[in-house]
Amino acid sequence: MIQLTNSVCEALICGVWRLIPVESLHGSTGILRRCPECHASIKLMKLGKEGQHPYFEHEKRNPACSLISAKGKAVKYVHSSVNVSEKDREDSEKFEGLLSLCISNNDMINDGEMGEDIIDVSDSTLSDLEKRHAINARIGLGTFKEAVISVWGSETCALTLTPVKEMLVASHIKVWRNCENTAERLEGANGILLCAHIDKLFEKHRITFRKVGREYRLKLADDLDSSLMTQLGINEGDALATGRMNAADLEKFEDNLAHHQKIFNHLNDKEIV
Ligand SMILES: [Zn+2]
Repeated sequence: MIQLTNSVCEALICGVWRLIPVESLHGSTGILRRCPECHASIKLMKLGKEGQHPYFEHEKRNPACSLISAKGKAVKYVHSSVNVSEKDREDSEKFEGLLSLCISNNDMINDGEMGEDIIDVSDSTLSDLEKRHAINARIGLGTFKEAVISVWGSETCALTLTPVKEMLVASHIKVWRNCENTAERLEGANGILLCAHIDKLFEKHRITFRKVGREYRLKLADDLDSSLMTQLGINEGDALATGRMNAADLEKFEDNLAHHQKIFNHLNDKEIV
């Protein structure tokens, strides 16, 4: 997995926030960039006189960010994310030449993805109520979560059967921004209720589920430590509790799962620095 440091930032390249080494951006003026962790605006620092790596600093100190580099006493500061307008997105097309320098040119594993999706919803023409539903759906709550519980017929983690409500998140199967419309995003068969830590692994395509006979069994990414996963209640081969789903929903679920497997396979075939 990518270890974030302040030598790597995010830049808006061809409309997508991508991870790129700070040094690759020197000389590219006008490109939007932000801290990959907290999305605050940053300034780029050149190679130091003593040979330090080029790095970034937050424009304003954000004490909550682990990539903090500003020194001095703590200040009260509400950090704000870099805003992206439609024009910025269009302008970003001209930085195509930087694509090859990105650490990962696959936007599916971009850490800023959820923030981007939420900004997209906020900037859309939906009504306030629709925006609230869409944002809740993106973070696995609200009407989407209810739809998932209804389709699966149970308010427990579909893998571990954990019934602790506070731990359960409705995880999207088909990546949110690859869904064609709001209806598809809110569709219960496009979700699995999972414990929060399992949701994270599933969302990042570090685990997936494959059909074996009539069951859907867990597959771990090759580089995950299986004994550590076992301690967390995640075992290769464990089956999802699909028993209460009706045939029509099961079919939709399988279609969505095919999308998830495809990305999982793609990410696991490829070396990630
Ligand atoms: Zn930050």
